Amino acid sequence: VDQPNSLAVRELPLPEPAAGEVRVRVRYAGICGSDLHIFHGQNPFVSYPRVIGHEFFGRIDAVGAGVDAARIGERVSVDPVVSCGACHACRIGRRNVCRSLSVLGVHRQGGFSQFVCAPAANAYRVPDHISGVCASIIEPFAVAANVTSRTGVLKEDIALIYGAGPVGLNLLQVLKKVHGIKAYITDRLDERLALARACGAAEDETINTTGIGIEDALRARGVDGGPTLIYDAVCHPAILEEAVRIAAPAARIGILGFSAVPSAIPQQELTKKELSLHASRLNCAMFPTVIDWISRGLVQPEHIVTHRVDFRNVGEAFDLAERNPRYSCKVLLDFGSGEAADD
Ligand code: MN
Repeated sequence: VDQPNSLAVRELPLPEPAAGEVRVRVRYAGICGSDLHIFHGQNPFVSYPRVIGHEFFGRIDAVGAGVDAARIGERVSVDPVVSCGACHACRIGRRNVCRSLSVLGVHRQGGFSQFVCAPAANAYRVPDHISGVCASIIEPFAVAANVTSRTGVLKEDIALIYGAGPVGLNLLQVLKKVHGIKAYITDRLDERLALARACGAAEDETINTTGIGIEDALRARGVDGGPTLIYDAVCHPAILEEAVRIAAPAARIGILGFSAVPSAIPQQELTKKELSLHASRLNCAMFPTVIDWISRGLVQPEHIVTHRVDFRNVGEAFDLAERNPRYSCKVLLDFGSGEAADD
């Protein structure tokens, strides 16, 4: 992205890994809503020009000083969160909100490139039995894993997820398949709710909110007293207001949005019910957890992948992701089409 609303495929010098870094030859990179925001100039943290992309899988093809050369050839998924290790947040184990946070594809060059350099510790080995397509979804799955780790999940919880986009659908899998709890999910598109059923939702757990309020929909499903665990994966300021209103006493609410528009939340509702709001940004070292879940067959992140597009057609891929939510969910850029390996 040269500047807001200007995207091009360009030949750049091959990046050399610095000390402590690896260079990854990218195979698949997922398009995220936040990439679209950067493209349109709606991300306040990014500087231009920028190679964007923070969800990707590939193979290590070079290492910098101090990195074991035996890692060359390793299949890896890269955690885009680069932190200092010394500030307050890092010292208390919250590296994803490091004071000098640097995110691949936002603050430094990212994965929409045939080659990208990253700290060696951020490149997690992907076992051979996990496909490349699946491995490219580890990052957005880690986002879902992070917000559930922030809120905690109790076996008594009745959960509600707003929005059956990539993050909402990944969240659904974490709640249904890892924790085994009741989890309702909303959307306005039946196609997305069909994907939710493919991700493990029961028929009655999907709610099309076109023409019906969430409270009525939950009451019709026998939910008494409101959800005890709510996630806003739509990230509209009005959703948080509604979530606070409908939440059961002692409920927790997970927030993922980045809107600058204030939500009007009465303190009375929070205090009366002792609600907890848990904001969640990116992920905090969740890659090993997610890789373990996939390895054990607990979750299938690749369910959300609807398209693979050759990277030279990036404009078409962005268009698909942005304008055709009925037809597309996670769109992957393919940097190695024609290569048989790592499908
Ligand atoms: Mn993302």
